[in-house]
Amino acid sequence: MAKLLWILAIVLLVVWLLRPRRPSRPQTGAPQRPVSPDVEDMVRCARCGLHLPRNDALRNGDAFFCSEAHRIEHATERTPHV
Ligand SMILES: [Zn+2]
Repeated sequence: MAKLLWILAIVLLVVWLLRPRRPSRPQTGAPQRPVSPDVEDMVRCARCGLHLPRNDALRNGDAFFCSEAHRIEHATERTPHV
């Protein structure tokens, strides 16, 4: 019986030694790459073409702008009657 326990202990030890190792342990079912603030949609300024994060952009309708000045310039440009 003692021999059986020794074999069981050795098998458990081998399994423990051969287990896959991962740098980060928590696997709570969350996606591998959660959407973080660092990875967000980039939009293009309709005035100068600058690409910037959507959160930093100013929106006017379906157009995005890098600054309030460009938003105003674009708006005044599109309306001939000022
Ligand atoms: Zn711009």
